[in-house]
Amino acid sequence: MLRQVAEGVLIHESEFCQSNAVVVHGRAGVLLIDSGVLGDEMACLADDLSDAGQTVVAGFSTHPHWDHLLWHARLGAAPRYGTARCAATVRDRLPDARAKARIAEQLIPLDIAGQVPLDLLGLITGLPAEMAQIPWDGPQVRIVEHQAHAPGHAALLIEERGVLVAGDMLSDVLIPILDLNGTADPIEDYLAALALLEGVAGDVGVLVPGHGSVGGTGQVHARAGQDRAYVRALRDGRALSDPRVGPSAQDGWDWVAGVHARQLQALARRSERDGTPG
Ligand SMILES: [Zn+2]
Repeated sequence: MLRQVAEGVLIHESEFCQSNAVVVHGRAGVLLIDSGVLGDEMACLADDLSDAGQTVVAGFSTHPHWDHLLWHARLGAAPRYGTARCAATVRDRLPDARAKARIAEQLIPLDIAGQVPLDLLGLITGLPAEMAQIPWDGPQVRIVEHQAHAPGHAALLIEERGVLVAGDMLSDVLIPILDLNGTADPIEDYLAALALLEGVAGDVGVLVPGHGSVGGTGQVHARAGQDRAYVRALRDGRALSDPRVGPSAQDGWDWVAGVHARQLQALARRSERDGTPG
C-alpha cells in the first residue's frame, strides 16, 4: 500500500481526506510521520512494514489535530514525538478519556467514526524547542516549527532526500486554515510561516502535504503563492478566485467552501471587536 516518492521515503494516502502518512527509512527501522486515520489502513501499513522486515522506531505528529495524532497498536510502542507546543496543546485538549470521547463526537465525521481507533490518540512526547532535528538513527529530519494552522505546527525537511513534509500547509485541495484560537494575528502569522517554508525548502523536489497530492519541483513556491493570495484576499476582504473553493473544487471537497465562509465570519468578528476597519 506504500508508494515511494523519493529514495527511502514512502507515503500512504488515506481514503479519508487524502491524508498522507509518511514512512522514512532509517538504519534500524522507519520513522512514521502522521501515521494515518482509519484503523484498517494503519493495520495494513503495519503489516506491510513487518512483511518488509521493518519496525517503526519513531513517530512524529506534525500538529495537534485529531487526524494527525492517531496510532495503531500493531505499529508498536516506538516513541512518538511532536513539538513541545504541540504536545502541550494535546495535554490541554485531551486530558482524559472523556475528552477523547468528546473529540470523537464533535470532530470525527459520522461515516468514519467507528473506524478510527482512539485508544492511542495523542500519546506524544514534546521535543524541547531547541531540538532542531528528530532524534533517530536515519537521514536528518529538520523540524521547521511555525505559527500557523495549529499551535506547535511543524513541517519536516529531509534535506538529503529533497523532501518537505508540510503538515497541513501547502495543500492543493485544502485552503489555508488559520489558527484563530488565541493567536494575536493569525493572518500575519500564516504569511510569515509561508515565507519561512519557502526560505528553507523552496528548492526541494518532493512536497508531501498532510492532505492532497504530492508536489514536485517548484511546487513549494507555487503552492505558497496560491496560499498567500488566499490569505491576503481573506485579510483585505477581496473577492476570491481559488480553485479549491467553489464550483471547480475537486469531488468531495465542497465542504472547503464552508471552512472559507467560517473564516470570513470569524475574521469579521475579530475586526469588529478590535475596532479595526475591514
Ligand atoms: Zn490540521
